[in-house]
Amino acid sequence: MPARRDTSYHPAMTSDTGTDEVWVVGGGVIGLTSAVALAEDGHRVRVVSRDAADATTSAVAGGLCWPYRIRPYERAVAWSVRSFEVLSGLARRPEETGARLVTGTMAGAAPGDDDGLSAWYAAVPGLRPARPDELPPGTAAGWRARTPLVDMPAHLRYLERRLTAAGGTLERRAPASLEEAGRTASVVVNCSGLGARELVPDPEVRPVQGQLVIVANPGVREWFVAADGGAADTTYLLPQPYGLVLGGTAREGAWSREPDPAVAEAIVARCAGPFPEVARARVLAHRVGLRPSRSAVRLEAERLPGGTWCVHNYGHGGAGVTVAWGCADEVVGWVRRILGGPGREQADGPGREQADGPGREQADGPGREQPGGPGREGAAESGPG
Ligand SMILES: Cc1cc2nc3c(=O)[nH]c(=O)nc-3n(C[C@H](O)[C@H](O)[C@H](O)COP(=O)(O)OP(=O)(O)OC[C@H]3O[C@@H](n4cnc5c(N)ncnc54)[C@H](O)[C@@H]3O)c2cc1C
Repeated sequence: MPARRDTSYHPAMTSDTGTDEVWVVGGGVIGLTSAVALAEDGHRVRVVSRDAADATTSAVAGGLCWPYRIRPYERAVAWSVRSFEVLSGLARRPEETGARLVTGTMAGAAPGDDDGLSAWYAAVPGLRPARPDELPPGTAAGWRARTPLVDMPAHLRYLERRLTAAGGTLERRAPASLEEAGRTASVVVNCSGLGARELVPDPEVRPVQGQLVIVANPGVREWFVAADGGAADTTYLLPQPYGLVLGGTAREGAWSREPDPAVAEAIVARCAGPFPEVARARVLAHRVGLRPSRSAVRLEAERLPGGTWCVHNYGHGGAGVTVAWGCADEVVGWVRRILGGPGREQADGPGREQADGPGREQADGPGREQPGGPGREGAAESGPG
Protein backbone atom coordinates (compact mmCIF):
# COMPACT_ATOMS: atom_id res chain seq x y z
CA MET A 1 0.00 0.00 0.00
CA PRO A 2 1.23 3.54 -0.66
CA ALA A 3 2.21 5.41 2.48
CA ARG A 4 -0.47 7.62 3.99
CA ARG A 5 0.34 11.08 2.80
CA ASP A 6 0.43 14.39 4.61
CA THR A 7 -3.06 15.81 4.08
CA SER A 8 -1.81 19.34 4.77
CA TYR A 9 -0.43 19.18 1.25
CA HIS A 10 -3.83 18.40 -0.16
CA PRO A 11 -4.09 20.77 -3.11
CA ALA A 12 -7.77 21.67 -3.35
CA MET A 13 -6.76 24.75 -5.25
CA THR A 14 -5.70 22.71 -8.25
CA SER A 15 -9.23 21.38 -8.72
CA ASP A 16 -11.25 22.95 -11.52
CA THR A 17 -14.42 22.49 -9.48
CA GLY A 18 -13.31 24.14 -6.26
CA THR A 19 -13.77 20.95 -4.25
CA ASP A 20 -11.13 18.52 -3.08
CA GLU A 21 -13.41 15.46 -3.14
CA VAL A 22 -12.50 12.57 -5.43
CA TRP A 23 -15.57 10.75 -6.70
CA VAL A 24 -15.27 7.05 -7.43
CA VAL A 25 -18.20 5.95 -9.59
CA GLY A 26 -18.86 2.27 -8.87
CA GLY A 27 -18.87 0.23 -5.68
CA GLY A 28 -17.76 -3.20 -6.92
CA VAL A 29 -14.33 -4.61 -6.13
CA ILE A 30 -12.60 -2.25 -8.57
CA GLY A 31 -14.28 0.89 -7.24
CA LEU A 32 -14.02 0.01 -3.55
CA THR A 33 -10.37 -1.05 -3.79
CA SER A 34 -9.50 2.14 -5.69
CA ALA A 35 -11.43 4.18 -3.14
CA VAL A 36 -9.63 2.56 -0.20
CA ALA A 37 -6.23 3.15 -1.82
CA LEU A 38 -7.09 6.80 -2.53
CA ALA A 39 -8.51 7.46 0.95
CA GLU A 40 -5.45 5.90 2.58
CA ASP A 41 -3.29 8.09 0.34
CA GLY A 42 -4.90 11.10 2.02
CA HIS A 43 -7.64 12.05 -0.46
CA ARG A 44 -11.22 12.85 0.47
CA VAL A 45 -13.15 10.11 -1.29
CA ARG A 46 -16.82 9.56 -2.06
CA VAL A 47 -18.00 6.34 -3.70
CA VAL A 48 -21.19 6.80 -5.72
CA SER A 49 -22.69 3.52 -6.77
CA ARG A 50 -25.95 2.62 -8.48
CA ASP A 51 -26.08 -0.77 -6.72
CA ALA A 52 -25.35 -2.02 -3.23
CA ALA A 53 -22.09 -4.00 -3.11
CA ASP A 54 -23.88 -7.32 -2.67
CA ALA A 55 -25.80 -6.72 -5.92
CA THR A 56 -22.67 -6.25 -8.07
CA THR A 57 -20.87 -8.69 -10.35
CA SER A 58 -18.05 -8.57 -7.80
CA ALA A 59 -20.27 -10.22 -5.19
CA VAL A 60 -20.88 -13.15 -7.58
CA ALA A 61 -17.18 -13.76 -8.36
CA GLY A 62 -15.69 -17.07 -7.26
CA GLY A 63 -12.80 -15.08 -5.80
CA LEU A 64 -9.70 -16.92 -7.01
CA CYS A 65 -6.60 -14.79 -7.61
CA TRP A 66 -5.65 -15.98 -11.09
CA PRO A 67 -5.78 -13.95 -14.34
CA TYR A 68 -8.50 -15.08 -16.76
CA ARG A 69 -10.25 -13.39 -19.67
CA ILE A 70 -8.49 -10.07 -19.24
CA ARG A 71 -6.35 -8.05 -21.65
CA PRO A 72 -3.65 -6.91 -22.19
CA TYR A 73 -1.87 -9.75 -20.46
CA GLU A 74 1.38 -7.93 -19.70
CA ARG A 75 -0.36 -5.33 -17.56
CA ALA A 76 -2.79 -7.91 -16.14
CA VAL A 77 0.05 -10.09 -14.87
CA ALA A 78 1.77 -7.11 -13.20
CA TRP A 79 -1.51 -6.07 -11.56
CA SER A 80 -2.20 -9.66 -10.50
CA VAL A 81 1.22 -10.04 -8.89
CA ARG A 82 0.61 -6.88 -6.86
CA SER A 83 -2.86 -8.03 -5.80
CA PHE A 84 -1.52 -11.48 -4.89
CA GLU A 85 0.87 -9.74 -2.51
CA VAL A 86 -1.82 -7.55 -0.91
CA LEU A 87 -4.41 -10.34 -0.65
CA SER A 88 -1.80 -12.67 0.88
CA GLY A 89 -1.31 -10.07 3.60
CA LEU A 90 -5.07 -9.77 4.14
CA ALA A 91 -5.30 -13.56 4.37
CA ARG A 92 -3.63 -13.33 7.79
CA ARG A 93 -7.02 -12.04 9.02
CA PRO A 94 -9.54 -14.13 7.04
CA GLU A 95 -12.51 -13.55 9.36
CA GLU A 96 -12.13 -9.80 8.96
CA THR A 97 -11.08 -9.50 5.30
CA GLY A 98 -12.67 -12.50 3.55
CA ALA A 99 -9.28 -13.42 2.03
CA ARG A 100 -7.61 -16.78 2.69
CA LEU A 101 -4.67 -18.66 1.23
CA VAL A 102 -5.82 -22.00 -0.18
CA THR A 103 -3.89 -24.68 -2.04
CA GLY A 104 -5.22 -25.84 -5.35
CA THR A 105 -4.63 -27.24 -8.80
CA MET A 106 -4.78 -25.47 -12.15
CA ALA A 107 -5.30 -28.19 -14.74
CA GLY A 108 -3.35 -28.07 -17.99
CA ALA A 109 0.17 -27.92 -19.34
CA ALA A 110 2.60 -25.06 -18.75
CA PRO A 111 1.94 -22.01 -20.91
CA GLY A 112 4.42 -21.51 -23.75
CA ASP A 113 7.01 -18.73 -23.67
CA ASP A 114 4.98 -16.64 -26.10
CA ASP A 115 1.87 -17.02 -23.94
CA GLY A 116 1.22 -14.05 -21.66
CA LEU A 117 0.55 -16.35 -18.75
CA SER A 118 4.10 -17.68 -18.59
CA ALA A 119 5.08 -14.53 -16.63
CA TRP A 120 2.30 -15.30 -14.16
CA TYR A 121 3.43 -18.92 -13.76
CA ALA A 122 6.95 -17.61 -13.12
CA ALA A 123 5.69 -15.16 -10.49
CA VAL A 124 3.36 -17.30 -8.35
CA PRO A 125 5.31 -18.26 -5.23
CA GLY A 126 5.82 -22.01 -4.91
CA LEU A 127 3.96 -22.90 -8.13
CA ARG A 128 5.05 -26.38 -9.26
CA PRO A 129 3.88 -29.15 -11.57
CA ALA A 130 1.37 -31.49 -9.91
CA ARG A 131 2.40 -35.08 -9.25
CA PRO A 132 0.13 -37.70 -10.86
CA ASP A 133 -1.24 -38.67 -7.44
CA GLU A 134 -2.30 -35.06 -6.83
CA LEU A 135 -4.51 -34.92 -9.93
CA PRO A 136 -8.21 -35.87 -9.86
CA PRO A 137 -9.53 -38.54 -12.25
CA GLY A 138 -9.54 -37.44 -15.90
CA THR A 139 -6.92 -34.71 -15.44
CA ALA A 140 -3.70 -35.38 -17.34
CA ALA A 141 -1.54 -32.52 -16.05
CA GLY A 142 -1.71 -29.53 -13.77
CA TRP A 143 0.01 -27.04 -11.53
CA ARG A 144 -0.14 -26.73 -7.78
CA ALA A 145 -0.03 -23.48 -5.84
CA ARG A 146 -1.23 -21.81 -2.68
CA THR A 147 -3.08 -18.67 -3.75
CA PRO A 148 -5.49 -16.12 -2.33
CA LEU A 149 -9.14 -17.22 -2.49
CA VAL A 150 -11.53 -14.45 -1.51
CA ASP A 151 -15.02 -14.72 -0.04
CA MET A 152 -16.31 -11.80 -2.07
CA PRO A 153 -19.44 -10.75 -0.15
CA ALA A 154 -17.31 -10.66 3.03
CA HIS A 155 -14.44 -8.90 1.25
CA LEU A 156 -16.69 -6.18 -0.18
CA ARG A 157 -18.06 -5.52 3.31
CA TYR A 158 -14.47 -5.33 4.59
CA LEU A 159 -13.50 -2.84 1.87
CA GLU A 160 -16.50 -0.66 2.74
CA ARG A 161 -15.53 -0.66 6.43
CA ARG A 162 -11.91 0.10 5.58
CA LEU A 163 -12.97 2.98 3.34
CA THR A 164 -15.16 4.47 6.03
CA ALA A 165 -12.36 4.09 8.59
CA ALA A 166 -10.08 6.07 6.26
CA GLY A 167 -12.64 8.90 6.11
CA GLY A 168 -14.34 7.93 2.83
CA THR A 169 -18.09 7.98 2.24
CA LEU A 170 -20.49 5.81 0.24
CA GLU A 171 -23.62 6.89 -1.54
CA ARG A 172 -26.21 4.93 -3.53
CA ARG A 173 -26.71 7.07 -6.63
CA ALA A 174 -26.24 6.93 -10.38
CA PRO A 175 -25.01 10.19 -11.85
CA ALA A 176 -26.57 10.91 -15.24
CA SER A 177 -23.10 11.21 -16.75
CA LEU A 178 -19.43 11.41 -15.83
CA GLU A 179 -19.60 15.06 -16.77
CA GLU A 180 -22.31 15.59 -14.15
CA ALA A 181 -20.10 13.88 -11.54
CA GLY A 182 -17.23 16.11 -12.68
CA ARG A 183 -19.22 19.24 -11.85
CA THR A 184 -18.95 18.38 -8.15
CA ALA A 185 -15.76 16.31 -7.90
CA SER A 186 -12.13 17.40 -8.18
CA VAL A 187 -11.39 14.16 -10.07
CA VAL A 188 -13.78 11.41 -11.17
CA VAL A 189 -12.58 7.80 -11.06
CA ASN A 190 -14.78 5.71 -13.32
CA CYS A 191 -15.07 2.13 -11.98
CA SER A 192 -18.53 1.42 -13.36
CA GLY A 193 -17.71 -1.99 -14.86
CA LEU A 194 -20.31 -3.01 -17.42
CA GLY A 195 -22.12 0.27 -16.62
CA ALA A 196 -19.36 2.07 -18.55
CA ARG A 197 -21.13 0.93 -21.70
CA GLU A 198 -23.79 3.60 -21.14
CA LEU A 199 -22.01 5.95 -18.76
CA VAL A 200 -18.94 6.75 -20.91
CA PRO A 201 -20.51 5.61 -23.31
CA ASP A 202 -18.21 2.81 -24.44
CA PRO A 203 -19.79 0.17 -26.69
CA GLU A 204 -16.57 -1.86 -26.46
CA VAL A 205 -17.60 -3.04 -22.99
CA ARG A 206 -19.63 -6.22 -23.34
CA PRO A 207 -20.98 -8.83 -20.95
CA VAL A 208 -19.49 -12.29 -20.62
CA GLN A 209 -22.14 -14.08 -18.59
CA GLY A 210 -21.03 -16.54 -15.94
CA GLN A 211 -23.21 -18.99 -14.02
CA LEU A 212 -22.30 -20.76 -10.77
CA VAL A 213 -23.89 -23.30 -8.46
CA ILE A 214 -23.22 -23.14 -4.70
CA VAL A 215 -23.51 -26.50 -2.93
CA ALA A 216 -23.05 -27.71 0.63
CA ASN A 217 -19.40 -28.72 0.66
CA PRO A 218 -19.08 -32.52 0.78
CA GLY A 219 -15.45 -32.23 1.94
CA VAL A 220 -13.51 -30.51 -0.88
CA ARG A 221 -10.73 -28.53 0.83
CA GLU A 222 -8.68 -27.37 -2.18
CA TRP A 223 -9.60 -25.37 -5.27
CA PHE A 224 -9.51 -26.98 -8.70
CA VAL A 225 -9.80 -25.23 -12.07
CA ALA A 226 -9.90 -26.63 -15.60
CA ALA A 227 -10.67 -23.66 -17.83
CA ASP A 228 -9.65 -23.04 -21.37
CA GLY A 229 -9.79 -19.25 -21.67
CA GLY A 230 -11.72 -19.28 -24.92
CA ALA A 231 -14.26 -21.94 -23.92
CA ALA A 232 -17.90 -21.24 -23.05
CA ASP A 233 -17.93 -24.08 -20.48
CA THR A 234 -15.38 -24.42 -17.69
CA THR A 235 -14.99 -26.71 -14.70
CA TYR A 236 -14.01 -25.37 -11.32
CA LEU A 237 -14.52 -25.91 -7.62
CA LEU A 238 -13.73 -23.21 -5.06
CA PRO A 239 -14.26 -24.01 -1.36
CA GLN A 240 -15.67 -20.89 0.29
CA PRO A 241 -16.94 -20.48 3.85
CA TYR A 242 -20.49 -20.07 2.48
CA GLY A 243 -20.35 -23.28 0.41
CA LEU A 244 -18.53 -24.99 -2.42
CA VAL A 245 -18.65 -22.85 -5.57
CA LEU A 246 -19.08 -24.90 -8.74
CA GLY A 247 -18.42 -23.32 -12.11
CA GLY A 248 -18.90 -22.34 -14.67
CA THR A 249 -19.76 -20.69 -17.94
CA ALA A 250 -18.51 -17.81 -20.08
CA ARG A 251 -21.20 -16.78 -22.59
CA GLU A 252 -20.10 -13.79 -24.66
CA GLY A 253 -22.79 -11.18 -25.27
CA ALA A 254 -25.39 -12.85 -22.99
CA TRP A 255 -27.21 -10.30 -20.81
CA SER A 256 -29.51 -12.44 -18.67
CA ARG A 257 -28.91 -12.61 -14.92
CA GLU A 258 -31.39 -15.47 -14.52
CA PRO A 259 -29.87 -18.86 -13.66
CA ASP A 260 -30.65 -21.49 -16.29
CA PRO A 261 -31.56 -24.84 -14.63
CA ALA A 262 -30.14 -26.89 -17.54
CA VAL A 263 -26.86 -25.00 -17.35
CA ALA A 264 -26.74 -25.53 -13.57
CA GLU A 265 -27.26 -29.27 -14.04
CA ALA A 266 -24.45 -29.38 -16.62
CA ILE A 267 -22.10 -27.50 -14.26
CA VAL A 268 -22.71 -30.00 -11.45
CA ALA A 269 -22.20 -32.91 -13.87
CA ARG A 270 -18.89 -31.47 -15.16
CA CYS A 271 -17.59 -30.91 -11.62
CA ALA A 272 -18.68 -34.42 -10.60
CA GLY A 273 -16.32 -35.85 -13.24
CA PRO A 274 -13.14 -35.13 -11.26
CA PHE A 275 -14.98 -34.93 -7.89
CA PRO A 276 -17.81 -37.54 -7.86
CA GLU A 277 -18.85 -36.57 -4.31
CA VAL A 278 -20.36 -33.28 -5.55
CA ALA A 279 -22.99 -35.09 -7.66
CA ARG A 280 -25.25 -35.56 -4.64
CA ALA A 281 -24.32 -32.37 -2.77
CA ARG A 282 -27.24 -30.23 -1.65
CA VAL A 283 -27.67 -27.14 -3.82
CA LEU A 284 -27.65 -23.97 -1.71
CA ALA A 285 -27.90 -21.27 -4.37
CA HIS A 286 -27.54 -20.36 -8.04
CA ARG A 287 -25.63 -17.27 -9.16
CA VAL A 288 -25.25 -15.44 -12.46
CA GLY A 289 -22.95 -12.48 -13.09
CA LEU A 290 -21.97 -10.42 -16.11
CA ARG A 291 -18.21 -9.95 -16.49
CA PRO A 292 -17.34 -6.48 -17.79
CA SER A 293 -15.32 -7.56 -20.82
CA ARG A 294 -13.32 -5.29 -23.12
CA SER A 295 -10.59 -5.74 -25.73
CA ALA A 296 -8.27 -4.10 -23.16
CA VAL A 297 -8.81 -2.84 -19.62
CA ARG A 298 -9.26 0.92 -19.80
CA LEU A 299 -6.97 2.44 -17.17
CA GLU A 300 -6.08 5.94 -18.29
CA ALA A 301 -7.03 9.57 -17.70
CA GLU A 302 -8.96 11.94 -19.92
CA ARG A 303 -10.52 15.34 -19.51
CA LEU A 304 -14.30 15.37 -19.33
CA PRO A 305 -16.22 17.93 -21.41
CA GLY A 306 -16.56 20.20 -18.33
CA GLY A 307 -12.77 20.19 -17.83
CA THR A 308 -12.52 17.85 -14.81
CA TRP A 309 -10.11 14.94 -15.13
CA CYS A 310 -11.53 11.43 -15.17
CA VAL A 311 -9.43 8.35 -14.45
CA HIS A 312 -11.07 5.37 -16.13
CA ASN A 313 -10.63 1.96 -14.49
CA TYR A 314 -13.02 -0.53 -16.07
CA GLY A 315 -13.24 -3.56 -18.35
CA HIS A 316 -11.55 -6.15 -16.09
CA GLY A 317 -13.42 -9.12 -17.59
CA GLY A 318 -12.96 -12.32 -15.61
CA ALA A 319 -10.22 -11.04 -13.32
CA GLY A 320 -11.39 -7.99 -11.39
CA VAL A 321 -10.68 -9.59 -8.01
CA THR A 322 -7.28 -10.73 -9.28
CA VAL A 323 -6.09 -7.31 -10.46
CA ALA A 324 -7.95 -4.83 -8.21
CA TRP A 325 -5.02 -3.80 -5.99
CA GLY A 326 -2.55 -3.44 -8.87
CA CYS A 327 -5.03 -1.25 -10.74
CA ALA A 328 -5.74 0.77 -7.58
CA ASP A 329 -2.04 1.64 -7.33
CA GLU A 330 -2.17 3.09 -10.82
CA VAL A 331 -5.31 5.05 -10.00
CA VAL A 332 -3.53 6.59 -7.00
CA GLY A 333 -0.61 7.50 -9.29
CA TRP A 334 -2.99 9.22 -11.70
CA VAL A 335 -4.86 11.17 -9.02
CA ARG A 336 -1.59 12.34 -7.48
CA ARG A 337 -0.44 13.57 -10.86
CA ILE A 338 -3.71 15.37 -11.54
CA LEU A 339 -4.11 16.99 -8.13
CA GLY A 340 -0.45 17.50 -7.32
CA GLY A 341 0.96 17.12 -3.83
CA PRO A 342 3.85 14.95 -2.69
CA GLY A 343 3.08 12.37 -5.36
CA ARG A 344 4.06 14.89 -8.04
CA GLU A 345 7.68 14.74 -7.03
CA GLN A 346 7.65 10.97 -7.24
CA ALA A 347 5.72 10.73 -10.45
CA ASP A 348 7.92 11.88 -13.27
CA GLY A 349 7.23 10.63 -16.73
CA PRO A 350 4.94 11.11 -19.65
CA GLY A 351 1.76 10.37 -17.74
CA ARG A 352 2.37 13.29 -15.42
CA GLU A 353 3.23 15.72 -18.16
CA GLN A 354 0.15 14.91 -20.15
CA ALA A 355 -2.22 14.84 -17.20
CA ASP A 356 -1.00 18.26 -16.08
CA GLY A 357 -0.82 19.84 -19.52
CA PRO A 358 -3.65 22.14 -20.51
CA GLY A 359 -5.61 21.22 -23.56
CA ARG A 360 -4.46 17.59 -23.60
CA GLU A 361 -7.55 15.52 -24.00
CA GLN A 362 -6.22 12.10 -23.14
CA ALA A 363 -3.24 10.85 -21.21
CA ASP A 364 -1.41 7.57 -21.22
CA GLY A 365 -1.22 5.78 -17.90
CA PRO A 366 1.75 4.62 -15.92
CA GLY A 367 1.37 1.28 -17.68
CA ARG A 368 2.79 2.82 -20.82
CA GLU A 369 6.03 3.22 -18.95
CA GLN A 370 6.10 -0.43 -18.01
CA PRO A 371 7.77 -2.93 -20.29
CA GLY A 372 5.21 -4.47 -22.62
CA GLY A 373 2.54 -1.83 -21.99
CA PRO A 374 -0.95 -1.70 -23.32
CA GLY A 375 -0.27 -1.42 -27.02
CA ARG A 376 0.24 -5.19 -27.18
CA GLU A 377 -2.54 -7.60 -27.86
CA GLY A 378 -3.05 -10.86 -26.05
CA ALA A 379 -5.08 -12.37 -23.29
CA ALA A 380 -4.45 -14.13 -20.06
CA GLU A 381 -6.55 -17.14 -20.78
CA SER A 382 -6.85 -19.79 -18.12
CA GLY A 383 -8.59 -19.43 -14.80
CA PRO A 384 -11.99 -19.37 -13.17
CA GLY A 385 -13.32 -15.82 -13.45
C1 LIG B 1 -19.37 -16.17 -12.42
C2 LIG B 1 -18.19 -15.25 -12.24
C3 LIG B 1 -17.07 -15.70 -11.57
C4 LIG B 1 -15.96 -14.86 -11.43
N1 LIG B 1 -14.88 -15.32 -10.74
C5 LIG B 1 -13.79 -14.52 -10.61
C6 LIG B 1 -12.65 -14.99 -9.90
O1 LIG B 1 -12.63 -16.10 -9.38
N2 LIG B 1 -11.58 -14.17 -9.82
C7 LIG B 1 -11.59 -12.91 -10.39
O2 LIG B 1 -10.58 -12.21 -10.30
N3 LIG B 1 -12.66 -12.44 -11.04
C8 LIG B 1 -13.75 -13.22 -11.18
N4 LIG B 1 -14.84 -12.76 -11.86
C9 LIG B 1 -14.77 -11.45 -12.52
C10 LIG B 1 -15.09 -10.33 -11.55
O3 LIG B 1 -16.32 -10.58 -10.93
C11 LIG B 1 -15.16 -8.98 -12.30
O4 LIG B 1 -13.99 -8.77 -13.06
C12 LIG B 1 -15.28 -7.85 -11.28
O5 LIG B 1 -16.36 -8.08 -10.42
C13 LIG B 1 -15.42 -6.50 -11.96
O6 LIG B 1 -15.52 -5.57 -10.92
P1 LIG B 1 -16.07 -4.11 -11.16
O7 LIG B 1 -16.00 -3.41 -9.84
O8 LIG B 1 -15.41 -3.50 -12.33
O9 LIG B 1 -17.59 -4.33 -11.63
P2 LIG B 1 -18.91 -4.57 -10.77
O10 LIG B 1 -18.72 -5.48 -9.65
O11 LIG B 1 -19.97 -4.90 -11.77
O12 LIG B 1 -19.22 -3.14 -10.16
C14 LIG B 1 -19.62 -2.06 -10.98
C15 LIG B 1 -20.13 -0.97 -10.08
O13 LIG B 1 -20.46 0.17 -10.86
C16 LIG B 1 -21.74 0.62 -10.48
N5 LIG B 1 -22.32 1.34 -11.60
C17 LIG B 1 -22.50 0.90 -12.87
N6 LIG B 1 -23.03 1.88 -13.62
C18 LIG B 1 -23.19 2.95 -12.80
C19 LIG B 1 -23.68 4.26 -12.97
N7 LIG B 1 -24.15 4.68 -14.13
N8 LIG B 1 -23.68 5.10 -11.90
C20 LIG B 1 -23.22 4.68 -10.69
N9 LIG B 1 -22.74 3.45 -10.48
C21 LIG B 1 -22.72 2.61 -11.52
C22 LIG B 1 -22.49 -0.63 -10.08
O14 LIG B 1 -23.60 -0.31 -9.27
C23 LIG B 1 -21.39 -1.36 -9.31
O15 LIG B 1 -21.31 -0.84 -8.00
C24 LIG B 1 -15.98 -13.56 -11.99
C25 LIG B 1 -17.12 -13.10 -12.63
C26 LIG B 1 -18.23 -13.94 -12.76
C27 LIG B 1 -19.45 -13.41 -13.45
